[in-house]
Amino acid sequence: MNTPVQYLKGVGPQKAALLAKLNITTIGQLLEHYPRRYEDRSQLKRIAEVFDGQVETFYAVVTAVNEVKPRRGLTITKVRVNDQSAEAELVWFNQPYFKRMYKPGMQLIVSGKVERRFRQIQITTPEVEFLSPGDDSLHTGRIVPIYPSSENINQQFLRSLIKQALESQTKIVENLPDEICKNYQLLNRTSAIENIHFPGSMALLADARRRLVFEELFYLQSGLLFLKKKHQHSGIGVKHGPNGEQLLAAQKCLPFSLTDDQQQAFREIKDDMEDSTPMQRLLQGDVGSGKTVVAALALVKTVENGYQGALMVPTEILAEQHFHTLSRMLAPLGIRIVLLTGSLTKRVRKEVLDRLSNGLVDIVIGTHALIQEDVVFQQLGLVITDEQHRFGVNQRALLQAKGNMPDVLVMTATPIPRTMALTVYGDLDVSSIRQMPPGRKAIKTYVANKDMHERVYNFVLKEVQAGRQAYIVCPLVEESAKLEAQSATQLYEQLQATTFRTVPCGLVHGRLKPQEKEQVMQAFYQADIKVLVATTVIEVGVNVPNATVMVIDGADRFGLAQLHQLRGRIGRGEYQSYCILLSDSKNPDTKERLDIMSQTCDGFVLAEKDLLLRGPGQFFGIRQHGLPDLKIADIVKDIEILLEARKAALRSVNIPEHVNLLRPELAVRFGEKFRQMFCN
Ligand code: ADP
Ligand code: MG
Repeated sequence: MNTPVQYLKGVGPQKAALLAKLNITTIGQLLEHYPRRYEDRSQLKRIAEVFDGQVETFYAVVTAVNEVKPRRGLTITKVRVNDQSAEAELVWFNQPYFKRMYKPGMQLIVSGKVERRFRQIQITTPEVEFLSPGDDSLHTGRIVPIYPSSENINQQFLRSLIKQALESQTKIVENLPDEICKNYQLLNRTSAIENIHFPGSMALLADARRRLVFEELFYLQSGLLFLKKKHQHSGIGVKHGPNGEQLLAAQKCLPFSLTDDQQQAFREIKDDMEDSTPMQRLLQGDVGSGKTVVAALALVKTVENGYQGALMVPTEILAEQHFHTLSRMLAPLGIRIVLLTGSLTKRVRKEVLDRLSNGLVDIVIGTHALIQEDVVFQQLGLVITDEQHRFGVNQRALLQAKGNMPDVLVMTATPIPRTMALTVYGDLDVSSIRQMPPGRKAIKTYVANKDMHERVYNFVLKEVQAGRQAYIVCPLVEESAKLEAQSATQLYEQLQATTFRTVPCGLVHGRLKPQEKEQVMQAFYQADIKVLVATTVIEVGVNVPNATVMVIDGADRFGLAQLHQLRGRIGRGEYQSYCILLSDSKNPDTKERLDIMSQTCDGFVLAEKDLLLRGPGQFFGIRQHGLPDLKIADIVKDIEILLEARKAALRSVNIPEHVNLLRPELAVRFGEKFRQMFCN
């Protein structure tokens, strides 16, 4: 399987380079280059039988090639074809080189949407395959695979190459335990790979796909379970004692009582912490559902047991926010808290690090700065990461490694559907907070277009005059913090010069120095600034209950998850809040996405919709988490198989013979960094 594709007939250096662009360099990768779809050409229609408006596939022979240029800048290429039954015309616009590709007498397989016009059959921009005499057994008369291809690597070439690889001496080794193949009635690997490429029948194709999806998800789940097991077995973790005085005092200090969901989540965390097996728990709950308090209580619990706690967050703004909240809550109890971010001066940083390593600090809150090598704890008992989706598996592990088997809690405000949680967080136990703190008014969300800007800003002005505050978020400029900062500055200046002439406005973006950012945020917290013009730097964590309006300019550029996060900045206090999504997009998908926002505020519902609309790949960059890419499984559609694969994996990771079988392939699939984590 590791043999380079160049060993196959017909692959020279040039073709090899082209194949490499499709990520195919070995025979194994070639065999994993799965078809994107199939065409049943076992019974091709004749041209006379095709239906208007349908996508049809037929065999035909070229009879004439024409090119017309009805006006400047427009070239139409027309290829006439026929079979014994009728004629058809293939049409392309502005693709002049097509003219040279077709010659009378050529045999084609044509697919595309049929249009009957003036009793003519026409297909615009069809997919075409050229048949050379004699090689039709792979390309017609059967269920034919259609591969992801490129301009210079066509379908026939891929098909022939894969056929050659299947018929070569390459041994396809079974990589699932026999018992599992039997129990779950899975096709063996050899026939699965044969049938995924050249299905003997539709039923065999379905079996082949099921087997390969199962295999992929089984390996993913096994890897995650190994990770969890390694963590639990490679030593005894911190065994916290039962809740004590300090925790009681902390709970008494809260200005509110915990919701049932918060209590339940904290109970689950407490139980994990009191157990000697290290905690590996995900706490998911919508923005504003009150995860921070739960985290704070867990931190108090570790402190009262004589340990240190660490809270890692993705942005400095959020670190500062948490630092203020927790200081206010915990300092009166004599708990010592510090902030560690990238923007500390060398001197202050050294001081913080010294105090951490000497045990003169109980809790540290920080950004990625926490996982740098020189950060050393005296006795780390609990590690929490907030907004987990912003971090990868590896970063989580690095922080964890700073203690001796500390308890680990990860939090996310991007609630993810259960299937997704199993895939991405398969190594974690899950607690969910679904209920919002009492007294919250549902945020009213509206979609508005450019013509309504004036009205929208006047509405903001009215809210400000009533004592409230507002956020105005500028359009997203992907990949360019600089351009984004510029557009934010522009909007800020424009608003300050017009509607908000008499209103104190502030501006934050990613290009500000940390102190400047901190200053603006402080002013906003203290309501000295009424309207905050911002980029997405405010996306997570900022908590100003007096802010009631969130205007998102260019809302169409954001995904649902991000819009929901942004909207989560408001509706945090007793006042009615409003979210206004400004968009001029006429794209129906975009409109649908924005409409969903105005229909629901439930993050769990939105997450499901987002997953359906965008598909799993984009929804959640699995790659980013250090997990292997999925080549064939679709975790939305393949939920049934996922649950089976997980069950099988749960069993296999405890059976030594199975583990021996899995280990080498896991190492390949999960790659270097991940390998280090569970093979040493
Ligand atoms: P999250 O981190 O889940 O987005 P936070 O922990 O920041 O949410 O909580 C949002 C707001 O709700 C905070 O102002 C917090 O003080 C408040 N809050 C949390 N729990 C409760 C509760 N049980 N009752 C009332 N208010 C609460
Ligand atoms: Mg939070």
